[in-house]
Amino acid sequence: MAVRAGREFLAIPGPTTMPDEVLRAMHRPALDIYSEEMVQLSDGLLRDLSRLFATKGKSYIYIANGHGAWEAVLSNVLSRGDKILVLESGRFAVGWGNAAAAMGADVEVLQGDWRRAVRPADVEARLRQDKDHKIKAILVVQVDTASAAYNDIEAIGKAIKSSGHPALYLVDTVASLGCMPFEMDAWGIDVAMSGSQKGLMTPPGLSFCAVNDRAQQVHKKANLRTPYWDWTEREGTEHYRKYGGTAPIHLLFALRQAIDMIDEEGLENVFLRHRLLAEAVRCAVSVWAEGQVLGFNITEASERANTVTTVLMADSHDPVALQRYCKEKCGVVLGVGIGDLAGQAFRIAHMGHVNAPMILGTLGVIEVALQALGVPHGKGGVEAAIGWLGDNVPA
Ligand SMILES: *Cc1c(COP(=O)(O)O)cnc(C)c1O
Repeated sequence: MAVRAGREFLAIPGPTTMPDEVLRAMHRPALDIYSEEMVQLSDGLLRDLSRLFATKGKSYIYIANGHGAWEAVLSNVLSRGDKILVLESGRFAVGWGNAAAAMGADVEVLQGDWRRAVRPADVEARLRQDKDHKIKAILVVQVDTASAAYNDIEAIGKAIKSSGHPALYLVDTVASLGCMPFEMDAWGIDVAMSGSQKGLMTPPGLSFCAVNDRAQQVHKKANLRTPYWDWTEREGTEHYRKYGGTAPIHLLFALRQAIDMIDEEGLENVFLRHRLLAEAVRCAVSVWAEGQVLGFNITEASERANTVTTVLMADSHDPVALQRYCKEKCGVVLGVGIGDLAGQAFRIAHMGHVNAPMILGTLGVIEVALQALGVPHGKGGVEAAIGWLGDNVPA
C-alpha cells in the first residue's frame, strides 16, 4: 500500500527540482560554438553571474560540479606549501580544505562544531596570532549543506579586515547563491564559487568562480595553476577558451532560462520567498521537537540556513527508515544525514524552485511518516507552518 504516483518530489539539497521551463530550454539543437549567438550567450551569462555574486570582478564557468570549482579556486590562487585556514561549520569547508591538502597546501582547520556557525571573533583572534602573515587564504562556506549552518559571511569579512590580515577570503556559495543575499564586493570577498544544481535550478555539471582584482594579482604568481582551471587561459580571444574547449551548450541554455526566471521574479523576492518558506519549515520542526525525539541540528536560531534544515533524531529512532517511508510510500525524497550526522539526522531542502505547496506537502508527508512509524512528535507542525505563512504572506 502506498500513496505515491506520478512525479517523485526531490526535497534533497541538490540536485534540486528543475522548473519545466529549464528542462524545455535544453530541448533544441546545439549551436555552432563559433557563432555570434554562442558568444552572446556566454557574454550574457558571465555578466549575469557576476551580478548574482554582486561583484565588479570577472566570472568563469567550468564544466564541473562544485568539487571542480573548489579545485579551480585553489589552483588559481595558491602555490605549493601555502598555508590556508579552513573555517569549520560542518562538512563542506573541511572537504574543500582536504582538496587543498591533496594539492600541496598546508591546511589548518579552525575547529568549529557541527551545531554552530563559524564565530567571527575566533577568526579574528586566530589571524591576529599570525603575525608573519603565513596564512595565505581563508576558506569558508556560506551555508553548510550537511549541518545546515548559515555563516555570516559579512561579519567574518569584517573580522578579517579588523585583524589587518592580508589573506585572501574565499567563499563557497554552492548552497546559497540565488537563495540568500550575497555581496561579494561589499563584504570583502576575493573569490566566490558556486554550482548550478542547487539554488540555480539547473542540471548538475556547471560551476562558477567570481574573482576580484586582488585575487587576480595573487593568481599571476600562483604555481598550482593547471591549464583547464586557469583564469588566464580563459581570457584568450577565441571563444572556446572561455570553456577550455567545447562549450556545454545545453547546460548554458538551461542556466540562461533559470537566471531569466530569477530575474523575472526579482532577486529580492526570491530571497524573501526562501526566508518565508524556510521559516515555515522551522515552525513545523519546532512543534515536532516537543515530542523530545526530533530537534534542530543548529542550536542558534539566527544561524539556521534558509535553504536547508537538518533535523536530528534521537538514537532510539532511525532517520533512514523515515526517509525510506517518505520516498516509498509518499513519493517525497528527503536528504539523509551525511558526514558526522550519518544515521542521526534527515535534511529538508528548501532551495531553488520551491513554493508553498511543495514545502507544505513535504512537511505534511514527514508528519504522515512520523505518525506511521510511531515516532513521538508534537502534533500540529504543518498547522504551525500554515499559520506562519497565513500571517506573513499578506493578502
Ligand atoms: C553540494 C555542495 C558542494 C559540492 O558540490 P558538488 O556539485 O556536489 O561537487 C560544495 N559545497 C557546498 C556548500 C555544497 O552544498
